[in-house]
Amino acid sequence: MAKTVEITWQGHACFELNNRKNVIVDPFIEGNPSAKIQKEDIQADIVVVTHGHSDHVGDALFIAKNNEAPIVTMVELAWLLSEKDNSLTIHDINFSGNVQIDGIKITAVPALHSSSYEGMYAGNPGGMIIDFGDICIYHAGDTGLFKDMDLIGSYYKPDIALLPIGGHYTMSAKEAAEAVKMIKPKVAIPMHYNTFPLISQDPNIFKNLVEKETDAKVIIPKIAEKFKLDVS
Ligand SMILES: [Zn+2]
Repeated sequence: MAKTVEITWQGHACFELNNRKNVIVDPFIEGNPSAKIQKEDIQADIVVVTHGHSDHVGDALFIAKNNEAPIVTMVELAWLLSEKDNSLTIHDINFSGNVQIDGIKITAVPALHSSSYEGMYAGNPGGMIIDFGDICIYHAGDTGLFKDMDLIGSYYKPDIALLPIGGHYTMSAKEAAEAVKMIKPKVAIPMHYNTFPLISQDPNIFKNLVEKETDAKVIIPKIAEKFKLDVS
């Protein structure tokens, strides 16, 4: 069976992942200088948020309401978001915990980072494993490099890894290439770079390092351009 997914990078850490259902992760659209879409135009079945920082929660509440879609996020952040809008379905998970929605399994994994939301402590930040059944994607959230990425790789066996490379707040290209060695995905996609001057990065440095030192292929998406990936 073909293992395919349609991916649209909406800039920064925001991805739409479409396989039967459209899952949007970290929907930072309004205020995102690299975004090329309006939040009103996002069609999503599930909204996933890795942690509380404003460049990741972004328009999650608006998009969830506009699409009558559930949100999946880390537990303390889920509580904070519920206080903002208790009409939404917000699934609160913690590390190794998961929810299954329409056959899509979403599992929280650690990220080495911090998390706050509108000045409030928002619990632990996470990465998310989004398993469509036939294809599995790891969105690392914001994270530094950590050794348990090899466990995330060997246990969840993601086909695709979405990794921050912008440095300053997260891994840079060099650390992210080291992460690929541990995660061992078939495809690695860089994110969280060039949105702001502080996280300027040439994604080709990441691509060259990864493709020289691992078997993974690196795809550098163009913002708002949907592409289909087959990792069969
Ligand atoms: Zn962050």
